[in-house]
Amino acid sequence: MNGDVRREWFEKDYYQVLGVPKNASQAEIKKAYRKLAQRYHPDANPGDKATEERFKEISAAYDVIGDEDKRKQYDQVREMASAGFGAGFPGGVRGGRVRFEDLGDFAGFGDLGDLFSVFTGRGGRGARVARGADLETEVRLSFDDAMRGATVPVRVQGPAPCATCGGSGAAPGTRPVPCPRCGGTGSIAVNQGFFSMTQTCPRCRGSGRVVEHPCATCGGSGSVRRQRSFQVRVPAGVKDGARIRLAGKGEPGPAGGQPGDLYVVVRVAPHRLFGRKGNDLTLELPITFAEAALGANVPVPTLDGPVTLKIPAGTQSGQTFRIRGKGAPRKGGQGDLLVTVRVEVPRRLSREERRLIKQLQEVEVGSPRERLGIET
Ligand SMILES: [Zn+2]
Ligand SMILES: [Zn+2]
Repeated sequence: MNGDVRREWFEKDYYQVLGVPKNASQAEIKKAYRKLAQRYHPDANPGDKATEERFKEISAAYDVIGDEDKRKQYDQVREMASAGFGAGFPGGVRGGRVRFEDLGDFAGFGDLGDLFSVFTGRGGRGARVARGADLETEVRLSFDDAMRGATVPVRVQGPAPCATCGGSGAAPGTRPVPCPRCGGTGSIAVNQGFFSMTQTCPRCRGSGRVVEHPCATCGGSGSVRRQRSFQVRVPAGVKDGARIRLAGKGEPGPAGGQPGDLYVVVRVAPHRLFGRKGNDLTLELPITFAEAALGANVPVPTLDGPVTLKIPAGTQSGQTFRIRGKGAPRKGGQGDLLVTVRVEVPRRLSREERRLIKQLQEVEVGSPRERLGIET
């Protein structure tokens, strides 16, 4: 549900739009809608703007109160809007009604999502206590370290739990006590006319606890700005851009709330030779024309030292060979190394090479362009 929808709910009386009483049955609502929809249907009144608007209104109304679940939520929201919030409400009560715009600022509610959840009974106790912000930092690893795995230090600067009070905000030797205003529940009941609503306790801001003797270091907030260092275990085979979560190492929550998380983004430097494709490593390997034509055993570098790759006779440039188990480490094993060979044509020929290649040309049968239908 978005803000616009809720805004409409505050401002529009859908029962009035459909001309039915608030206690109408679903069947009565349906009947009323059908009758009105027929009368105001654009097809029956072509080109009439006012009728068209009315038809839209009728449809919007039926969309909500024609649906039993939506209707229940709508009723709750309307009840709240028409009852008003009384003297405690900023801006007061206008003609016994509350304007949607005012609700966003209502003390104790961060936004309308909160407000709505209070009214529909969603979100349990403590849900109103803000959690600390998540933090993000970066570590840079060499390709080899990323393959092997590493433990790296990270440092973050900003709000951190106060070391003097351990984040509670209470002076050493004392402890936060249950909030006397709400009895430690974090919320209080506010009676408004004929119905009662629950509101976040303004004294403890929903935490249910208050500090009687504030810690001198942090002034009772439980957090101070400082630098913190952590050791982060980066798993072997980590990919560039991977995010490692350090639960609870983000900013401390306000009023002793839950801390956020720290995310460490891993940046892996490119390798001189190897590329990466998922858990496989890739390598471009130059070979000579003779090796490709005759076949050869060629040495190939891997993470664990060189291995021998057998290239069969008649290998084409661009052909890829898979060397199993020589890729990046992954859970329960290792990827493969994909070796793509490139036949390198010599840029300069010795006199002897030139003579032999000319000789080769003379004995060659046919042309590779024959299959394209090009005459030799
Ligand atoms: Zn402190
Ligand atoms: Zn309280």
